[in-house]
Amino acid sequence: MLNILPIEEDVYTDFIGTWKECLKVIKDNVSDLTYNTWFLPIKPVSLTGTILTVQLPSQFFWEWIEEHFNTLINRTIKEVLGEDGKLNFVITEEKEEIDSRQSSQNTQSQRIAMPQKPEFSSNLNPRYTFENFIKGEGNQLASAAAKAISENPGTNSFNPFFIYGGVGLGKTHLIQAIGNKILLEFPFKKVIYLSADEFTVEFVDAIQSNKRNEFSNFYKNMDALIIDDIQFLVGKEKTQDLFFHIFNNLHQSNKQIILSSDRPPKDLKGLDDRLISRFQWGLSADIQPPDLETRIAILRRKSVDYGISISLEVIEYIAKSITNNIRELEGCLIKLLANVSLNSRPIDIAFVKRTVQEIATDRKVNITIEHITKTVCGYLKVDENKIRDKTRKKEIVLARQVAMYLSKKLTQNSLKSIGLHFGGRDHSTVIHAVSSIEEAIATDKRMQDLCEMLQSQIEVNSL
Ligand code: ADP
Ligand code: MG
Repeated sequence: MLNILPIEEDVYTDFIGTWKECLKVIKDNVSDLTYNTWFLPIKPVSLTGTILTVQLPSQFFWEWIEEHFNTLINRTIKEVLGEDGKLNFVITEEKEEIDSRQSSQNTQSQRIAMPQKPEFSSNLNPRYTFENFIKGEGNQLASAAAKAISENPGTNSFNPFFIYGGVGLGKTHLIQAIGNKILLEFPFKKVIYLSADEFTVEFVDAIQSNKRNEFSNFYKNMDALIIDDIQFLVGKEKTQDLFFHIFNNLHQSNKQIILSSDRPPKDLKGLDDRLISRFQWGLSADIQPPDLETRIAILRRKSVDYGISISLEVIEYIAKSITNNIRELEGCLIKLLANVSLNSRPIDIAFVKRTVQEIATDRKVNITIEHITKTVCGYLKVDENKIRDKTRKKEIVLARQVAMYLSKKLTQNSLKSIGLHFGGRDHSTVIHAVSSIEEAIATDKRMQDLCEMLQSQIEVNSL
């Protein structure tokens, strides 16, 4: 049972030796990691008859021990102290101790310096684990490295870990799986996950409320910092500057940094060179679209998880139709599931064909002209309202034409409707814009990079 008692240092029998015996047994039964994390911080306090009392640093610690090592502890104590052996726990009463230390000058420092369980949200989604991540050729290196990092955060040569690849290929899943695994193995570690976009928004808020230092200290204090879609820092110099300092700080103190991006570091044009070179210090691993076998494996596994039975023929049909986005494979199964339960009809090929077509349509419907305009203007630093005006200023014309081109490419709006969105221009203006951008892309690598970068930002944000 749990008793919260003050510690009595003067009770002495051979409790130290007894606990050492127990530790020997325990060490043989658990990993080094578990031993160091959970058993070394325990302090023996007294031995009365066959009752050994030990001290734990916190309530949380006690709950964890109870939940995970109860059997081992009971077995061990009986082995060392005989059948009547019992282990009694006391918990350091930290608050009171701090109070008494403040009021009395000569109180000895006996508080165990254990880190506290973090009091902020890690933002991790528990759904993303290594167990439900399917390995295949396209993600082999990335997933193996991710696993290794989660077992040894910070103190490996994969720092930072930089994972890159196209939309819907499992980057977010993998980097969150690392975070979840770290917390499982090391519950006291401070792990935080957020997208570069969220990081930027928080940073702007912090500046506005004069909390720049608090903001930066909070992140410098993490054991693992996971930032998704780091390409969103492109063009945001102030945020990059602060991130640079946080990065250095964490890296120097062997804290793990995990980043994802839609492209490799060297292609992050518009990102500070100091950051690009740092991103290459550790390990960069790409994720490629899954090959046919992996797609089949993913569909089989997920259909079991969702509880729908589909024939291999249907699985193969889906796997052959949706080739480079795992989110869409999942989406297809979910749609089938919905349709099956609505119509209570079997899943045949005709039915699946329609579902696959719907997915292709959804891809376009999710992206709106407003969203495209906002992204393009934000990136090119052009006022959104100006783009609808008559102005012929060079940078505004460029933004307008790029936004029109992307609206044509990524949405299902007609030329007429696109023209209307851009200040009531007619469809020939849109045709002209689209063809001049297409021409520029064909002849100018910078224009190609710009449009690809914008397209990917738009796609990621509209998922
Ligand atoms: P990204 O961040 O690269 O755009 P996500 O990590 O969001 O992609 O993945 C999209 C969806 O596909 C998620 O629901 C994820 O769980 C799933 N997924 C991706 N890769 C795999 C995989 N190898 N095994 C199982 N599920 C996967
Ligand atoms: Mg993602």
